[in-house]
Amino acid sequence: MKIAVSACLLGDNVRYDGTNKFNEVLVSLLEGHEIIRICPEAMVFLIPHLPIEIQDGRITDSDGFDHTQDMTIACEKCLAQIEGCDFVILKSKSPSCGYGEIYDGTFSGTIIKGNGLFATLCLENGYRIFTENDLEEIRQILI
Ligand code: SF4
Repeated sequence: MKIAVSACLLGDNVRYDGTNKFNEVLVSLLEGHEIIRICPEAMVFLIPHLPIEIQDGRITDSDGFDHTQDMTIACEKCLAQIEGCDFVILKSKSPSCGYGEIYDGTFSGTIIKGNGLFATLCLENGYRIFTENDLEEIRQILI
């Protein structure tokens, strides 16, 4: 299968603070499959950078600067990169990749229901989305 995956889950140090969210179990499940690694934020920001969150579809950093336009372009580029993928696996709660739950945009650590900018674009284009919290479902599909 061909699967798009958030680069931070694969161990790339692309998060705002220069770290990653490497998921060893996920990576072992993906062995033998074609992986397309994507990170919309790394197309826009130098790393490290200020934390960003999403509120009402707009991406801002913790200083209040609006990055929605640049992030929208980056997400559209990522969408083009994942063409032909069977499904996508995205990092939960991110303002870009988050699916189902995101931080509320107040930089207070509050979680609300919602999707990140890239996850929204994936949904609009018919992609099935999983997160790193869906390992059992992913395993069932890949076996
Ligand atoms: S969650 Fe998505 S945008 Fe954020 S660092 Fe990971 S891959 Fe990049």
